[in-house]
Amino acid sequence: MTERETLEFDVVFVGAGPANLSGALHLARLVKQHNETAAADKIGDIEIAVIEKGASVGAHILSGAVMDPKALRELIPDFEAQGAPLESPVNEDFFLYLTPKHAIRSPITPPPLKNHGYYIVSLNRLTGWLGEKCEEAGVNIFPEFPGADLLYDDADRVLGVRTGDKGIDKEGKRKPNYEPGVDLLAKVTVLGEGPRGSLTKKLVERLGLDEGREPQVYSVGVKELWELPDDRYPTGRVTHTLGFPSDAQTYGGGWIYGMQNRVLNLGYVTGLDYKDPLIDPHAEFQLFKTHPYIAKLLEGGKMIRYGAKTIAAGGYFAMPRTYADGVLLTGDCAGFLNSQRLKGIHSAIKSGMLAAETIFEALLARDFSAKQLQSYERRVNSSWIIPELRKVRNFHTGFRHGRWLGLVNTGLQFFTGGRAWGIFDRDRAHAGHAEMQKLSAYGYRGDKLEQRYTDLRFDGKLTFNKVTDVYHAAVGHDEDQPVHLHVLDTNICSTRCAEEYGNPCQRFCPAAVYEMVEDGGNGKRRLQINFSNCVHCKTCDIMDPYQIINWVTPEGGGGPDYKGL
Ligand code: SF4
Repeated sequence: MTERETLEFDVVFVGAGPANLSGALHLARLVKQHNETAAADKIGDIEIAVIEKGASVGAHILSGAVMDPKALRELIPDFEAQGAPLESPVNEDFFLYLTPKHAIRSPITPPPLKNHGYYIVSLNRLTGWLGEKCEEAGVNIFPEFPGADLLYDDADRVLGVRTGDKGIDKEGKRKPNYEPGVDLLAKVTVLGEGPRGSLTKKLVERLGLDEGREPQVYSVGVKELWELPDDRYPTGRVTHTLGFPSDAQTYGGGWIYGMQNRVLNLGYVTGLDYKDPLIDPHAEFQLFKTHPYIAKLLEGGKMIRYGAKTIAAGGYFAMPRTYADGVLLTGDCAGFLNSQRLKGIHSAIKSGMLAAETIFEALLARDFSAKQLQSYERRVNSSWIIPELRKVRNFHTGFRHGRWLGLVNTGLQFFTGGRAWGIFDRDRAHAGHAEMQKLSAYGYRGDKLEQRYTDLRFDGKLTFNKVTDVYHAAVGHDEDQPVHLHVLDTNICSTRCAEEYGNPCQRFCPAAVYEMVEDGGNGKRRLQINFSNCVHCKTCDIMDPYQIINWVTPEGGGGPDYKGL
């Protein structure tokens, strides 16, 4: 029996993303203000903790990102004057349709992609700054503390979180530096783990928080930062693209943002409900860069950073219940992102603030039950979050019938206020991984990528293979620890999956973690998991056609270091 230290807090936030940092900061201020002004019934000092699996706040935070500042302004009205790390206000919006050879600029920017008044930000830097604000307000921040399990009582009330053990070797044995994880007890635990949170996934399953909701669908964004030799792309220009290289059946699009100091931030989003089993989101992005317009933009430049992250794109219909006894969900792990606008930072911040107001009320009432915390849902419903999400509630499902119907549907919804009169109901009934077709449906023989990406070469100048890109994500994991990608039945990999889908994990993982290798020279192959490459994007947990990959938190501090991304 392992002896564990127990630490008691009033509130523990799991994940130092924009939602939870905003929530922790807002709560600390609400309590302070109350204690200073209330004549009676003071709450007293409360202990707030934020735990983060990365080596520092922001290390695992990756986003485009153009931020709608309305929520940050509610949290910190003078954030500009206070020195929030903003790359640039958006000065210009471009929307391009890419054919294989040409870039056609739309005379009008679609309203959801108009970004005037917004800011280009590095979300890594912004969360670092919010972390400092939290510490100034007295919040305890614990980096290198991954949430490994939620703690429950016999009535399934959440009592807190157990952090991961340190110092376990790859065989599961204790090393000399072994330290057991700590039990952090809290009146309320707030999960803000980002898309497909590992604790959130288990909580939702255990308590049935997704009952009556549609399955969540996701996209994955793959991005690089480039240093340009001159001012060819102005700081503050935002370009979004549609078309090349996605086929018309696959949801996808690109972005190019002008950052400071001639740094270009570009990336490509691929819907994780694609049909072709040979699709590789990293290859889609590399192909995107070979488009004559993009290649010219990058000529003479140097790739300096790489990252990948999933996005919860299902929206309004796919949001789970966001409260239960002793627990709340914030930000992307609750599905607050507006996929039509490609924006979720504003709603993440707002959800954190609303969670803080809910907890503040619960502290006053000394009641942390689901009945009390239900007021979080009411707050979210009456804030600007839900009206914004309701207007685009059928956006993503429209694209399940291909790009053109998706665009028609998007246009129509401006007039219908988001209604689709049940046209897409059938499409919402299954998760994205179920869309993947077998190799035979496409006439493919085996898993050779060249069958789809006939023109793609990795030249090391414009296009890079996954291993080179991963090097630029500054990923680090101690190699002597248990593998954190749990494949529940590896027999499937060398038999059914090889035959039916050609082991798509080798392609949908943007970090070359999964590899089918020769096994004993008799023509058989087995799965090798290069877990130290993992950039924690969660694509494998989402897109595996048999749903047998379970991503769990590795030892604290491991993973990418998304400095400046
Ligand atoms: Fe992403 Fe999974 Fe690959 Fe890690 S192993 S980088 S979570 S797809």
